[in-house]
Amino acid sequence: MRTPLVAANWKMHKTRAEATAFVEAALPQLTGLDGVEVVVCPAFTALETVGRLLAGSAVRLGAQNLHWEREGAFTGEVSAGMLAELGCTYVIVGHSERRRLFGDTDERVRRKVRAAFDAGLVPILCVGETLEERQAGQTESRVAGQVAVATADLSADEVAHLVVAYEPVWAIGTGQAATGQEANRVIGLIRQHLRHRFGPAADAVRIQYGGSVTARNAAEFFSQPEVDGALVGGASLNPHEFAAITRTARR
Ligand code: PEP
Repeated sequence: MRTPLVAANWKMHKTRAEATAFVEAALPQLTGLDGVEVVVCPAFTALETVGRLLAGSAVRLGAQNLHWEREGAFTGEVSAGMLAELGCTYVIVGHSERRRLFGDTDERVRRKVRAAFDAGLVPILCVGETLEERQAGQTESRVAGQVAVATADLSADEVAHLVVAYEPVWAIGTGQAATGQEANRVIGLIRQHLRHRFGPAADAVRIQYGGSVTARNAAEFFSQPEVDGALVGGASLNPHEFAAITRTARR
């Protein structure tokens, strides 16, 4: 059975002081929870602070982005090795905000996924269709295409460790979540696509739903058989709400 993964994506929120306050409030509520794995993904500037506070706990540290090269003249960028050195276990790759605002093409996402694995990090690969793509009936082809390119040079063993976050772009930060049924359907298609290419390894891949998940609607997603947790943006900024979502995800 796959252990659900609930990840907090803080985006460009929380100073180190605010991050510290969050961990101090959330950690007692997240400690000793069986049947769920928890990850917190702060901004780069708070990674070390949060990593120190989480040390010795079961809550994992994740970053929100990385560059695919190991080092070089890439002003403002951070490599996978640098994140691993800080104690990160996970890294979000291909978030729709990065695709839309910062030029993360499918090809760049593929290179970032490769770089993450090469440094011993687990990528949380974000895929999802825009509203226009959904209305044009292109959800399946768009999502399958994103997954196909991002996993093009992975082995079955690497794929088994991969985390995918199905995040319909129209649901992110809008308060308009997909239905649990629809998330389950698309996630099932992603798994089918991975099974076709990688065989039984696909059954080990954790595929989260993301897009306006809150403590109120979390159960609708986590009761679906294909949904292995959530990538949570806005609702992850509040330690009590994030802890409540996490508790709901336990299997
Ligand atoms: C996200 O940023 O990955 C996300 C799902 O955001 P929100 O939960 O705010 O929709």
